[in-house]
Amino acid sequence: MFKSILVTGGAGFIGSNFVPYFCQKYPEYHIVNLDKLTYAGDLSNLVECEHFKNYTFVKGDICNHEFIKEVFARYNICSVIHFAAESHVDNSIANPFDFIQTNVLGTFNLLDVAYKFWMNAPKIPKENFVYSRFHHISTDEVYGTLGEFGYFKETTPYAPNSPYSASKASSDLLVRAYFHTYGMNVTTSNCSNNYGPKQHKEKLIPKIIYNCLNNMPITIYGTGKNIRDWLYVKDHCNAIDLIFHKANAGETYNIGGHNEKTNLEVAYTICSYLDKKVPRQVGKYADLITFVKDRAGHDLRYAIDPSKITHDLNWKPDESFDTGIIKTIDWYILNS
Ligand code: NAD
Repeated sequence: MFKSILVTGGAGFIGSNFVPYFCQKYPEYHIVNLDKLTYAGDLSNLVECEHFKNYTFVKGDICNHEFIKEVFARYNICSVIHFAAESHVDNSIANPFDFIQTNVLGTFNLLDVAYKFWMNAPKIPKENFVYSRFHHISTDEVYGTLGEFGYFKETTPYAPNSPYSASKASSDLLVRAYFHTYGMNVTTSNCSNNYGPKQHKEKLIPKIIYNCLNNMPITIYGTGKNIRDWLYVKDHCNAIDLIFHKANAGETYNIGGHNEKTNLEVAYTICSYLDKKVPRQVGKYADLITFVKDRAGHDLRYAIDPSKITHDLNWKPDESFDTGIIKTIDWYILNS
């Protein structure tokens, strides 16, 4: 019999890389992809799933309690992999309300429905749901910012600085509470910045590529010296798969590939690859770089210490930034 797994936010960037990978790898699972299809969700990223017999798409909002209850009952949902979120820091500065609504209340709603559907009472699962698991996808941004040295570990205190990271930190704490109070089988992963195919062009890497290909200014916040630790999206999917199947209940894992780059380095890397691949008629792509006023509360540096997932689950990324960025740029050239 199929086990039905609810994947939320599967039409977004990471979800739409994860869903086809998971459907293909686990034909014994029925993947129910629930997505509200906000501006960030795009079903055209999932055309490859249309012929999968073990895939169903459901449009809806994770904040709608009755609807989520109905989805659990209709598909007999036995596990959840929760990606759905408002995810763009700039939008969270302009309009924090949606972030609290979806990231905090939506996550709470899913936890509450899952708990009542899977368990009779705290620490007492129903017979058919003994192995039911709730995996929550989160971000390294919950830890705040680093100086020049050091890394985020699972034990680093939470210190979120933007409405986005504060809303994700809140959702992580709710997940934690459902483990400690109710004994729900939860796991959480906090990942560094992802890049790869299918990302919305509001985000740094697709935006740089898109602007290059359309001869538009490449805007870089402040001095461009902010550092992010980049991970190719398929390596993130692989880590989620491992945690979902192998981690102990209640565990959290940091995921990152030791690929620290300043925003300016990222821009120059993309420009110099495009200079070779699709040269401009006049000048170089880097001529398009323009510095703009810094983002409010812009964190200086994120960097992950992934030694726990490496040690416990034997995870390591397949791509370095040098190999992953080429695959990514080639994908956007073909798909824009
Ligand atoms: P995304 O913005 O590309 O996709 C989010 C998806 O969630 C969209 O398809 C959207 O339609 C859906 N959604 C939003 N609100 C919803 C709601 N109320 N109900 C149902 N669906 C809703 O985001 P992403 O970059 O794919 O990120 C996925 C998850 O991974 C998020 O939880 C994010 O915090 C986390 N994360 C992202 C990164 C990154 O670099 N992109 C890094 C670490 C963690």
